[in-house]
Amino acid sequence: MSAPSVANPTCGLCGAPARRPFRAPQPEIAPDLDMRPGEPARSTLPDWIQTCRSCGAAAPDLSALTPAARGVVDSPAYAALTTSALEETLPFRRWALICERSGDTAHQAEALLQAAWAADDAAAMTEAARLRAEVAALWAGANDVETGLRRLDVLRRAGAFEEADAWADHMAAVTQEETAAAIIRFQKSRIAHRDIGRHLISAPMPPPAHAPHVSHGKRATTGFWSRLLGRS
Ligand SMILES: [Zn+2]
Repeated sequence: MSAPSVANPTCGLCGAPARRPFRAPQPEIAPDLDMRPGEPARSTLPDWIQTCRSCGAAAPDLSALTPAARGVVDSPAYAALTTSALEETLPFRRWALICERSGDTAHQAEALLQAAWAADDAAAMTEAARLRAEVAALWAGANDVETGLRRLDVLRRAGAFEEADAWADHMAAVTQEETAAAIIRFQKSRIAHRDIGRHLISAPMPPPAHAPHVSHGKRATTGFWSRLLGRS
């Protein structure tokens, strides 16, 4: 990494000026069950992916793109997104395609889920459900608890209730962790009600009166999720 490129980032494909990667503000509200962050980070979603005005490449950090992405950006499939994709989802779907062609399934799934959030914000429910179905397919082999629980939410919000219910049973069988179990029970209840709405990860938790150490929503919820994932 040379200092000049940090000071004046440029597109890794065409060399045009790029901006620095966007840094979202720290969330102050709990995330959704699919880990979409709470406000004020939540509403900065349109800033997360930059699109190069010169070559049309899209990425969180244009300067990190390598020439290997050139073939994708110049491909008919990439061009076709311009007309086929909902405008609000276009940057995310372009980045997802670049990730897909480089075999980066993890970032592809995150990009498509972000596209689904953009579709949510545009009230494009059919598109949001279709994007979530793609994410669920990419996460079909998830064997970590976090991704598994997020996939459960993605399936439910895609309206794939039977598959979601079966995945909930699978998750219940692979983790006995108390908080994960609470989330799974909550999701099964929502699935039974044919609910495709968004819910905060704090929703499945017992009220503070039953958990005295959990006193303030946002901090406690973040801590809860960290504990669940073994990060604290
Ligand atoms: Zn460029």
